[in-house]
Amino acid sequence: MSKKDVIKSLKGVAVDHYKNTEDYVTETMPEPDRVYLPCVQHMGAPCTPVVKVGDLVKVGQLVADCDKAFSSPIYSSVSGKVVALEDFINPQGVRTQNVVVEADHQQQMYEGIAPPKVTNTQEFLKAVRDSGLVGLGGAGFPTHIKLSLREPEKVDTLCVNIAECEPYITSDYRNVMEDGQDIIDGIELVKKYVGKITQVFIGVEDNKPKAIQRLQLLTQDKPYIKVLPMRSQYPKGAEKVLIYESTGRVVGDGMIPADVGVIVMNGTSIAFLAQYMKTGVPLISKRITVDGSAITNPKNIRVPLGTRFVDIVQFCGGYKEQPRKMLMGGPMMGIAIYDDTYPLLKNNNALLCFGEKETKAIPSSACIRCGRCVRACPFSLMPAAIDRAYQAKDVEKLKALCVGRCMECGCCAYVCPAKRNLVLTNRLAKQLLRNSAPKK
Ligand code: SF4
Ligand code: SF4
Repeated sequence: MSKKDVIKSLKGVAVDHYKNTEDYVTETMPEPDRVYLPCVQHMGAPCTPVVKVGDLVKVGQLVADCDKAFSSPIYSSVSGKVVALEDFINPQGVRTQNVVVEADHQQQMYEGIAPPKVTNTQEFLKAVRDSGLVGLGGAGFPTHIKLSLREPEKVDTLCVNIAECEPYITSDYRNVMEDGQDIIDGIELVKKYVGKITQVFIGVEDNKPKAIQRLQLLTQDKPYIKVLPMRSQYPKGAEKVLIYESTGRVVGDGMIPADVGVIVMNGTSIAFLAQYMKTGVPLISKRITVDGSAITNPKNIRVPLGTRFVDIVQFCGGYKEQPRKMLMGGPMMGIAIYDDTYPLLKNNNALLCFGEKETKAIPSSACIRCGRCVRACPFSLMPAAIDRAYQAKDVEKLKALCVGRCMECGCCAYVCPAKRNLVLTNRLAKQLLRNSAPKK
């Protein structure tokens, strides 16, 4: 990506925010009668169950793991009995197994839980893997892999992403307001054990003045941490955009942030890291935003992982109307689900249930070649041309159009007057390229 492209990306798309729940203090949802813990909740190698049906487990006890480094262990969020190991296809279409635990409602903690002993980078990375942490705001990339740097001496910057540029979602905002000190403590840990970090940027969209103020207060005696208010325009939280906004550095095609000396972490992930180092309690629950006109009482809630969405909705007063669309995540990049029996995963940060109000069905029509999608794309792609190339299954053209660069941000579909389903097309086009690549 050229410098010109990145500067263009700063335009973004002005989306309506609907941050209805920003002042709703996080409530803690009691454990449900059963949790369903999928063995794939991360990028990388799938886990396999380490428990069998009939085993008794406690809160924070390991239930699934993998001997590959590029993976992340799964822990029970309730105490109780393993009642099933059942097949499950997750919303991305990945076939895996669920460890189903029937809660005894005693919530007994696993005896092996203790703060990890960390004195060097190797021990820190092991502790991060043991915590079960994956990127909590995105694709679920295992955090210990992200922090295992090939050339640590070249990484001098940490960017903490609290942009929360998706409409509706306020869970990261609540994290700042309720657990802000943990964010700062997490930053200190990463700074101490990873790379040669000399500067830290905390990127927050300027539509969250209270969060900016709180972070400035918490960092006033730390000159190396800069709170960076960013103009509120989607997708400011995109990794490459945040890095450019913070440092002016450009992450080109085929590069990762560490190649330009930067690590990017989500604010909730870094706060969890600090909590884990203090308590040793692995990732077993998640703060999420539940909103949308089909929900009776929208809330921010802390939910045991593996809780089914139907139980979460029940905790929020049930459905006000039959949802027409349900999303795991925000309306720009979230994944639509057709069934509310899906369980909450590590990287889910919202459950949105849209009713009639948000889902006026406008049929898709032929492209009128207005060029709006091209102007909206942060990475200077040509979504309309990709759409045509995909319909023609023209693999060479798709390569030439650099569809692999698409981060599926949704800006193109958002501005398209013909309501073309451009993000879906891009996803399918990328899959077509993967399928047509020579097998190794
Ligand atoms: S979804 Fe892809 S093509 Fe569309 S605007 Fe975002 S990066 Fe560009
Ligand atoms: S925004 Fe929609 S109608 Fe306009 S060029 Fe792109 S695909 Fe075609």
